[in-house]
Amino acid sequence: MSAALKLDSPTDPRDRGGPAQPLLIVENLKKYFPVRGGVLNRQVATVQAVDDVSFLVHKGETLGIVGESGCGKSTTARLLMRLMEPDAGSVVFDGDPVGDKRGISVSEMRRQMQMVFQDSYSSLNPRMTMAESIAYAPRMHGVGRKEAFERAERLLSRVGLNPALHARRYPHEMSGGQRQRVNIARALALEPRMVILDEAVAALDKSVEAQVLNLLTDLKHSLNLTYLFISHDLNVVEYMSDRVMVMYLGRVVETGPVESIYRHPRHPYTRALFASKPTLDPDRRTQEMPLTGDPPNPINPPSGCRFRTRCAFAQAICAEKPPLLAEPLAIPLAGAPEPSHLVACHLPEAQAAGASAHA
Ligand code: SF4
Repeated sequence: MSAALKLDSPTDPRDRGGPAQPLLIVENLKKYFPVRGGVLNRQVATVQAVDDVSFLVHKGETLGIVGESGCGKSTTARLLMRLMEPDAGSVVFDGDPVGDKRGISVSEMRRQMQMVFQDSYSSLNPRMTMAESIAYAPRMHGVGRKEAFERAERLLSRVGLNPALHARRYPHEMSGGQRQRVNIARALALEPRMVILDEAVAALDKSVEAQVLNLLTDLKHSLNLTYLFISHDLNVVEYMSDRVMVMYLGRVVETGPVESIYRHPRHPYTRALFASKPTLDPDRRTQEMPLTGDPPNPINPPSGCRFRTRCAFAQAICAEKPPLLAEPLAIPLAGAPEPSHLVACHLPEAQAAGASAHA
C-alpha cells in the first residue's frame, strides 16, 4: 500500500482488467434465514431475504438500489461484504472470485470494498477519538503509527473537517453530520476502490444530507471510486446514481440506466413506487395508483411473481412461474427504454400500462 493517499488521482494502477471489465459481478446470490420455534428450537420456517440476485457494477459508476423496507437491499450489501455468509451465489471483484483459491481472499476484498452504515454513532467506537478511529484500519494493516495518524488528519481535511479541531474529539462531541463525515473518512483510510453506502444519509437533516451527497460525489470523481448506493429515498437515488436496481421481496424486478428507469419505468412495482414519490415536475406525474398494503410475509412469499398479490394486472401465469429479467417488450407508446433496461414481468399489457402512464 502506498504511504500517501492518492487523493486526486484519476486513474487506479490496481485496475487489472481495464475499464470495460466490471468491478463487481454478482451472480445468483441467495440468503435464507431460518426461523426457529417450539420447545426444541427447531427450524419451522425460512425467510427468503435475498433470492437469486444477480447484477454488475461497472468501474467508476454508482449503482443505486431501491425498494421498500425488507426488500433485501441491505442484506445484499452485507452479503457482499461477507458480514454474513451467502447460502449460494458468487461474487467476482475485478475478475477475481472472492473467497476462492483462484481469486482474492475476503480480507483483501474488504480492503478494496468498504461500507458506510446509516447509524453514524454506533459505527464509531465511543472510546476512540476521530483520528484514532480513522487510523485504526491502516494500523491493523501494518502502517506505522505516525503515518497512520497523518493519513487520518489528511482524510479529516478531505471530508471537510478541521483536524486541529476534530481529530481529538470523541463521537459524542460531534454532530451526526460530522460523525458521518468521519465514517466516510474511515471507509477511505485503506484506499478502497468501491464503497457501499447503506442508507448513509438517511439519518441526516436535509441541509446536511445535501452537503454529504456533494462530498460523496466529489470524492467519487477525485478518487476514482465506484459506489453501491442503497436508499429508500428515490430522489436521492436519482441524484446519485448512474444505474438503478429495484428490488422487491428479495428479488430484482427492474434494472437499467437511471434516466431510463425514472422516465420509462416498466414494472408495475417500480411505477407504484415512483407514484408515491412527491414531484413538482409535471412531466413526471403519473396516473398510477401508489402502492397499497404491506409486502407479503417473506416467510411465505407468493409463488411465481412475488408482486402478484399487489399487482392490478396479475393473471394465472403470474402465480405459476417467476418472471425472468429481460428487455422490455417493444411498445409503441413507450418513450424508448435503453437496451440495458431489464424488467421482470410476464405481461406486455402490464408494461404497456406503464409506458402510457409515463409517456
Ligand atoms: Fe404483475 Fe404478473 Fe407482471 Fe408480476 S408478472 S408484475 S404479477 S403482471
